[in-house]
Amino acid sequence: MTKLPFKINLTNKTAVITGAGGVICSHLAKTVAECGAKVALLDLNEDAVRICAEEIVKNGGTAKPYCADVLNRESLENARKRILNDFGTCDILINGAGGNNPKATTDNEYASYDDAEKDIKTFFDLDASGVEFVFNLNFLGTLLPSQTFAKDMVGKSGCCILNISSMNAYTPLTKIPAYSGAKAAVSNFTQWLAVHFSRIGIRVNAIAPGFFSTKQNQNLLWNADGTPTARTGKILAATPMGRFGTVDDLTGATLFLLSDEAAAFVTGICIPVDGGFSSYSGV
Ligand code: NAD
Repeated sequence: MTKLPFKINLTNKTAVITGAGGVICSHLAKTVAECGAKVALLDLNEDAVRICAEEIVKNGGTAKPYCADVLNRESLENARKRILNDFGTCDILINGAGGNNPKATTDNEYASYDDAEKDIKTFFDLDASGVEFVFNLNFLGTLLPSQTFAKDMVGKSGCCILNISSMNAYTPLTKIPAYSGAKAAVSNFTQWLAVHFSRIGIRVNAIAPGFFSTKQNQNLLWNADGTPTARTGKILAATPMGRFGTVDDLTGATLFLLSDEAAAFVTGICIPVDGGFSSYSGV
């Protein structure tokens, strides 16, 4: 069970959540299930979504796992057909699959004159395939599921899409140029799609989580022996509230944006849930 700050009524709604095997979206899946939605959990990681769906069902909710690749139209279409059969058409889409890749990450924050003599991955060494992987996963991995599932939202009322952006979208973080650019693209696309769908009643919004310690950023935040990296120290110093976020911190903003009543006139926004990170200049 998750700790809900308040409840919204999602009874009779079908929620499709990508990346639902991950830390953040497995939590969001449990959250919407507790509000009464039938939840379709999509992920490449079949075991992770099966375990999460089982937990939701054990707690009295309705959920099913679907193995699907957000970068593959055919795989998404297969999942869509199965979901149509199991739960009916999609009302809520949460685009949660995303992440970075070490091949698109520089070892150092700042370039130095003698970098060429060191055994490090510099900006000049970044692999195009790594950059492409990160852009595809975050941007195309948001666009393709939106195409697949929003098709069934046309003509219905009370439908919405929630994307997951990041602090990187506001100001890029050091070392991860591809992830920063890709999340900026996700925020931009959120606005674009909100305008595009505004006359057909589909709201499109995003949340931008601040810093959460999860699988995808584990190596950047923690040393192998479990001690915090220098980057963790910098993050906490730049987060006025002085701590990492927890998944429970995301619940309120998510439920607000998914609520037809509370957010009826809200589309195209991105809510930072960041302990003040995006407002702090560092001084
Ligand atoms: P996570 O790695 O725990 O979860 C991501 C999930 O996406 C995984 O279960 C993975 O199997 C799945 N996935 C990856 N590629 C896929 C594909 N092609 N098709 C289907 N599923 C795929 O990460 P998380 O921290 O829970 O992140 C969730 C979202 O939040 C991501 O978009 C991430 O970029 C974003 N985000 C995370 C943080 C953070 O601090 N953790 C901060 C801001 C934004």
